[in-house]
Amino acid sequence: MIVILKSGVASDSPEYRQVLDYLGNQANIKPRIHHVTGTLQTVTEIYLIGDTASLNKSDVESLPGVERVVRVSEEYRIIGRHRDDHRPVGFEYNGVRFDQDSLHVFAGLCAVDTREHVELMLRALQENGQVCTRMGAYKPRTNPYAFQGHGKSCLPWVFELAGKYGIKVLAMEITHDSQVDEIAAALEQTGRPTGVMLQIGTRNTQNFELLKIVGRQREFPVLFKRGFGITLEESLNAAEYLASEGNRNIVFALRGMKTNMGDPHRNFVDFAHVPVVKRLTRLPVCIDPSHAVGSRERSPDGILDVFHVTAQGVIAGANMILVDFHPAPAKALVDGPQALTLDELPRYLEDIAIAREAYEKRRALVTKSRKG
Ligand code: PEP
Ligand code: MN
Repeated sequence: MIVILKSGVASDSPEYRQVLDYLGNQANIKPRIHHVTGTLQTVTEIYLIGDTASLNKSDVESLPGVERVVRVSEEYRIIGRHRDDHRPVGFEYNGVRFDQDSLHVFAGLCAVDTREHVELMLRALQENGQVCTRMGAYKPRTNPYAFQGHGKSCLPWVFELAGKYGIKVLAMEITHDSQVDEIAAALEQTGRPTGVMLQIGTRNTQNFELLKIVGRQREFPVLFKRGFGITLEESLNAAEYLASEGNRNIVFALRGMKTNMGDPHRNFVDFAHVPVVKRLTRLPVCIDPSHAVGSRERSPDGILDVFHVTAQGVIAGANMILVDFHPAPAKALVDGPQALTLDELPRYLEDIAIAREAYEKRRALVTKSRKG
């Protein structure tokens, strides 16, 4: 059950105290308070955990400080969609809006390698009107002897270059909570030239201690990747960990599943789940065609598989695309074989625009037929 307080009910007001006293007197109920900061106002939501079935919804609603009460199912209390649930969807970060209607492309390097490559990448993005990118500094590698990323040493110059080329949000995977502090310190040191979306990789989907720590900080939004070998339900529950700790600025990413049936792709492409995740949760949904496909194979029509699956995700309503590009894939230290090249960027964006237009037309069609 979620108790939403009237806007303007401050935490030192008598109405606020009355609600908390009332809830505190209920047996087997634990309130957890979330302050949701929007563009215009801060709203207080109180999540009740425990035996909420015994609570009378209208009694709670009659308290003077209460705006409304939503009964939620057990699953995905915060990130989920529930009946009569009109809580806002999405968030804004560093001037960029993320919700279930928006679409942003995060093209960039799988792993930061040289300054020259980072700069070439960022310049190409700016020339093509892009304000987001991906840049890996901490790389979780299968092989312990493989390049592990430059780590914190590259952060200051990567952030400065991002700012120079007008990048507002940079997706960066973290593998340990100490890296959140390293990122925050480097941003501070460089005067916040850009913003960072913390990425939780598929290998860490169920690293609950990491999720709790990342969920407790509110500075950075989180790009949360689906686990490659667990059920969707398990991945959504893991995303709920972030929200239950307080950070609900989450984008849920599909990146393919590990299965032998995934052949001929690196992973079995799961972008048919874009509308499913949008239905089950209020989170914007990202697709990662690079790690899903894992190669530059193309079909007889001449279109690369990475382009094909991107279009498939976008036509199904994806809100974000995380995709590997590299100015010189042969020299990339991580995932070169799946990277797109800078001269492919304009065509890639055009292809996305075609798929997006088709999605919008499909959506208009269903709206029209529902009205008619
Ligand atoms: C990545 O995006 O660089 C990455 C390692 O992805 P995943 O966690 O999906 O394998
Ligand atoms: Mn990669």
